[in-house]
Amino acid sequence: MSAPVIPSSLQIYNSYVEDPIWQGNFTVIWCSGLAITIAVSLPSLILSLRHGRSFKGITGISESTGYRSVSSDDNKSLPAPGSPQSRRLVGAWNALVSQTYWSPPKLELNLGQIIVLSAYLAAVLVCIIKDAPLISNPNRAGFLALAQFPVVFLFATKNSILSLLLGPGNGYEKLNFMHRMAGRTMFLGGCIHGALWIRNHLQYGLPILGPQKETSGVASLALLGIIVLTSLRPVRRLFYECFFLVHVLTYVAFFVTICYHTMYASPWIFPPLAFYGADVLMRLLRYRIKDATLTAQDAHMTLIRVHSCDDGWLAGQHVRLRVFFSNRVFESHPLTILSAPPSHSCLSSPGLILGARTNGDWTRALNNYTLKEQERSQVHEKSEGGPSALVHVMLDGPYGGSSIDLGGYESVLLVAGGSGVAFTLGLLDDIVERWVSCHPYQL
Ligand SMILES: Cc1cc2nc3c(=O)[nH]c(=O)nc-3n(C[C@H](O)[C@H](O)[C@H](O)COP(=O)(O)OP(=O)(O)OC[C@H]3O[C@@H](n4cnc5c(N)ncnc54)[C@H](O)[C@@H]3O)c2cc1C
Repeated sequence: MSAPVIPSSLQIYNSYVEDPIWQGNFTVIWCSGLAITIAVSLPSLILSLRHGRSFKGITGISESTGYRSVSSDDNKSLPAPGSPQSRRLVGAWNALVSQTYWSPPKLELNLGQIIVLSAYLAAVLVCIIKDAPLISNPNRAGFLALAQFPVVFLFATKNSILSLLLGPGNGYEKLNFMHRMAGRTMFLGGCIHGALWIRNHLQYGLPILGPQKETSGVASLALLGIIVLTSLRPVRRLFYECFFLVHVLTYVAFFVTICYHTMYASPWIFPPLAFYGADVLMRLLRYRIKDATLTAQDAHMTLIRVHSCDDGWLAGQHVRLRVFFSNRVFESHPLTILSAPPSHSCLSSPGLILGARTNGDWTRALNNYTLKEQERSQVHEKSEGGPSALVHVMLDGPYGGSSIDLGGYESVLLVAGGSGVAFTLGLLDDIVERWVSCHPYQL
């Protein structure tokens, strides 16, 4: 006699069997989206590989020995224009894609990013809600919160395989919006899970604090809340260093408490550890300690010329700079390299030059320090081409840059404002030099 089969309507929902399946479904969805994006970026990746732009600077800024081989000028030439038909096709495609760069005022996101974020949010919500008896068992939301871990870390790390696969110009600063979104959806999942379990406990008169499961759950949700609230834009704007410190300390604490809360968390901790480990390893390859000369143009701008840097970056990329002055050793700030590498630069005195506009406390302290040092050494330095201050700096990078090679276009219009001019100057330096070296008699 066969065992009686319980009708599906009478079966008790087994969240520990059903919900991991939805974690898997969600992972398949975002991985497929990523695979499509990488596939779409493939032609530009291949093109940039051909022009030697893709892996430029992967091991950091380099210093030549003074000898410049002929082959170092290989990628200096302007890319050969394709056939008129292929150029028209590329032009039409670029015109279409350019629509996604439109940004609604104040949002600091473009249309393309808004579409991606909406699709991501929809996928998370569907995976949380679909066929889940959330009121009686809100575990699905918690499971989906855990499934955000790989996304949060993949898009947070400064050095990731993703930036390499998407080609030049897709650095951490462009991908970071996904990190923020995944962090918020993790919080959303945590809130649904926590709030509904609290409701459930109140209904049946069960303690909300005390038992290990409940206490660690409330602690995890509180930590996640702190991470999300201290990462909001106004906090990042006004108290960046504070935000950064709280962020690092709280996510480590969150890792520990969530592993106490549920044994289903530990497998989701491994991808973040792998991404973070790879990031740290790559950074070790990219750190450089160099001498630099600081020159304050006025009270608003400090120029930083880093010595012995000859190659290993593309025009428009930025570095994270730590200047060893006063008590500011623990701070590093992103600054765009406003010159092309010497082999591509038309400056009379090329090199790695950065400009820091006085914006907040670090840039102001740097400017004040430089002005003071300049004053102190003015008499002595005057004979050596103007007053300046000598310091040690630490470079981490290069990162980011332009996703398109401007050398491939006949006409280029550059528009810049504020400190964004550094990005534009680097690109201008690059294309002018490449034009001059290809058409030496036409200027
Ligand atoms: C990719 C990138 C490239 C940049 N290039 C240049 C450049 O070439 N020239 C230039 O003058 N400025 C540049 N900036 C801005 C520059 O990094 C900030 O002005 C500087 O870090 C401000 O530090 P602060 O302590 O003086 O000001 P704060 O008052 O602490 O901060 C002012 C603003 O800078 C942001 N900020 C502060 N510290 C950091 C940090 N460590 N990392 C990221 N953002 C931070 C804050 O969120 C805030 O919006 C760039 C920023 C980015 C993200």
